[in-house]
Amino acid sequence: MENKHRKRILITGAAGFLGSHLCDRFIAEDYDVIGMDNLITGDLQNIAHLFKLENFDFYHHDVSKFVHIPGDLDYILHFASPASPVDYLKIPIQTLKVGSLGTHNLLGLARAKQARILVASTSEVYGDPLVSPQSEDYWGNVNPVGPRGVYDEAKRFQEAITMAYHNAHGLDTRIVRIFNTFGSRMRLNDGRAIPTFIAQAIRGEDITLFGDGSQTRSFCYIDDQIEGIYRLLHSDCIQPINIGNPDEISLLQLAQEIIELTGSSSKISHRPLPIDDPKQRKPDIGLAKAQLNWQPKIDRKLGLEKTIDFYKKVPLETLSHKDF
Ligand code: NAD
Repeated sequence: MENKHRKRILITGAAGFLGSHLCDRFIAEDYDVIGMDNLITGDLQNIAHLFKLENFDFYHHDVSKFVHIPGDLDYILHFASPASPVDYLKIPIQTLKVGSLGTHNLLGLARAKQARILVASTSEVYGDPLVSPQSEDYWGNVNPVGPRGVYDEAKRFQEAITMAYHNAHGLDTRIVRIFNTFGSRMRLNDGRAIPTFIAQAIRGEDITLFGDGSQTRSFCYIDDQIEGIYRLLHSDCIQPINIGNPDEISLLQLAQEIIELTGSSSKISHRPLPIDDPKQRKPDIGLAKAQLNWQPKIDRKLGLEKTIDFYKKVPLETLSHKDF
């Protein structure tokens, strides 16, 4: 039931990793939250605790189809999209559709409701970057017809159409370029490095590293990421902005760190490097510091400890069942 004193926000991708944490944050800030998700990669278990609340509502819906929400809306957060390579390589067309048609639908909804919309972009718009760290004025190095192009180009289109709605219709828009983020509720079998390594370490299986493991990534803990997104939504920053943790680490070091933190006896084994896998990834967060007064507060070790604690408490089979 809509409460006139509360701001009302639609969050797409609500049953996913980031979307479910965003729902928690906006509920905690006393918003009326409407979650929307088609559950293609998400899981209702991530938001099951919200269903009993009077200020939470959920629509099971594919945002690539027409989106209708009765009543007023103040904000839209568009986070629906497969996000891990394992997922978007399996459902390439849906990935392109949710970034293009889905974003178009939500921009139209934002315009009709005169709502502010924030769209979730990604560091993948930089592709396999030729500069490091990546700042927002770097235009990227993406192979549009490579296997990863379905995600990277969907997100590049998403940014372009969002900026076009801002320029052509004066729509109140925000664009966040999210760098690798980790924490509770990631699917253990979604192919991303941290949940995969944690699951393998907890099970005592070999940790599988692509290539020699010298490729680097920088990992942001979920609470820091949510705070950055929250600040961006309430800022005046129209240009895309990087939110991530610049603390860079090689995947080999990451695997060793996770083996140590879990106290596992796992060994490391190597697999061939996937096509177009970026060799390095590190955000320049100068703009986020200057515009949002934001920087990550939780270092990787603490974030990993919190994440490992979460996975140790949950029966592994309940977190890894989903494979489509
Ligand atoms: P996720 O897979 O956990 O969540 C995505 C959610 O979107 C899922 O619940 C899925 O069912 C839903 N969804 C997908 N297509 C949909 C559609 N057509 N209609 C309705 N719902 C749909 O992924 P995540 O890690 O939470 O990522 C969320 C967003 O953040 C994505 O847009 C992703 O591109 C972006 N992002 C995430 C990261 C990261 O490190 N997690 C990094 C960069 C960008």
